Amino acid sequence: MTKGKNMNIGDELRGVLRGTVLTAGDEGFEQARRPWNLAVEQPVRAVVEAADAEDVAALVRHARLAGLTVAAQPSGHGATGDNDGVVLLRTGRLDDLRVDPVERVARAGAGVKWGRVLEAASPYGLTGLAGSSPAVTVTGYTLGGGLSWFGRRHGFASRSVRAFEAVDAAGELVRVTADSDPDLFWALRGGGGDFAVVTAIEFDLHPAPTLYGGRLLWPAAMAPAVLDAYREVTATAPEELTLWYDLLQFPGAAPLVAVDATFLGAGGDAETLMRPLEKVAGRLSDSRAVLPVAELGGITAEPTDPGPGVSRAELLTGLTDEVAAALLDEPIDPLLSVQLRHLGGALARPSGTPAGHLDEPYALYLFGIPGQDGGAAVRERMERLTGALVPYTSGRKPFTFLAPGERAAAAFSPADLARLQEIKRTRDPRDTFRSNFPVLA
Ligand SMILES: Cc1cc2nc3c(=O)[nH]c(=O)nc-3n(C[C@H](O)[C@H](O)[C@H](O)COP(=O)(O)OP(=O)(O)OC[C@H]3O[C@@H](n4cnc5c(N)ncnc54)[C@H](O)[C@@H]3O)c2cc1C
Repeated sequence: MTKGKNMNIGDELRGVLRGTVLTAGDEGFEQARRPWNLAVEQPVRAVVEAADAEDVAALVRHARLAGLTVAAQPSGHGATGDNDGVVLLRTGRLDDLRVDPVERVARAGAGVKWGRVLEAASPYGLTGLAGSSPAVTVTGYTLGGGLSWFGRRHGFASRSVRAFEAVDAAGELVRVTADSDPDLFWALRGGGGDFAVVTAIEFDLHPAPTLYGGRLLWPAAMAPAVLDAYREVTATAPEELTLWYDLLQFPGAAPLVAVDATFLGAGGDAETLMRPLEKVAGRLSDSRAVLPVAELGGITAEPTDPGPGVSRAELLTGLTDEVAAALLDEPIDPLLSVQLRHLGGALARPSGTPAGHLDEPYALYLFGIPGQDGGAAVRERMERLTGALVPYTSGRKPFTFLAPGERAAAAFSPADLARLQEIKRTRDPRDTFRSNFPVLA
């Protein structure tokens, strides 16, 4: 069969699936194809909301025969728009979540978002390796490695995966572990969504009996002093302490500078470690407290509803005086935030996954909302800042921090990229699966 272009793809898919199928002209199609990042257009052929894992398998078997391409996209947080003509697969109905506090393991269906896992694990003093947003799915985040608040202590989230339940390119339901299929297991632990559709993920939970965290906030005039203190504290911080430095410019408000913190331990110890920051004058607020893990997402309070955004990330080889000067050279406007994330610790050690290890001690993450100009001013400001930082950036980017227009190759070592490409060619020779950042692109 050819690519199926002469058939009515909607009827074709409805013939083999129990879930919802929408194509152009159907009521709800425009809404259904929209990603979380509303700045990204998705010219897809159809949107399928799978009823369950069997339905995913039926879709993949049909796609294989009909020459269709399937792109799993639970939420579209990582949407790139590079999905012209694909069948977009929504996994929201794969929403089963189980937490076993004795074995310290969770099993989350492919539609489950981090917020639910944190709520379920919190009463047992356990946590998964979530990042800043409770609204991204565990599966999409973990397939890309997953840079967690607790990465300095426990490494990339993908390292904590015990098993994937997935549909392979032959349309078979498989359970993938280090023993059952070492190559596929390795590729799924950080290589993205190019190798299979994951229907559920089983991963370790980690102890967080006394999580402490929150945000310290000052007027932007204090940004240099806060950055000095941030550099001092992060230079010697234990792996249990993670600090992010944020220059913030909310529309219509005065610019601010913040430090966000989590500490896997007693609050008193964190306060001692953070004393240089406490000494910076002019603090507007301090929300640090002992937190239930369920409230992790409240620290940065990132938006959980869809909206347009432009982002860019870089890894910094150091936080020298020159880097500090470039960051603070001029107001960040029209950007909304310029964030530094402290890395190191377990993130700097070999992970045995495609996420590798990060030699760079800090990540830089820039975010802005495109205006009437489609984001030109935001991109220009990002370009100016990253241009000034070229001598201090490595060029590598964590997979989950890649932005539209960037390539998977930026996330992997050459050897790991070659291995991922080989696995893609042998496991998905018909190119049935399309990741947001394909490894062969
Ligand atoms: C507000 C915000 C905060 C963030 N914070 C962090 C952070 O702290 N740390 C971090 O590492 N990242 C962070 N990210 C990035 C985020 O982890 C990635 O965008 C991730 O890809 C989102 O996964 P998703 O499934 O929600 O998004 P989607 O865009 O729906 O999926 C992303 C990709 O994952 C793959 N995928 C998803 N589900 C499946 C599946 N079932 N089978 C096969 N492939 C699949 C697909 O290739 C898909 O294109 C953040 C993003 C946002 C918007």
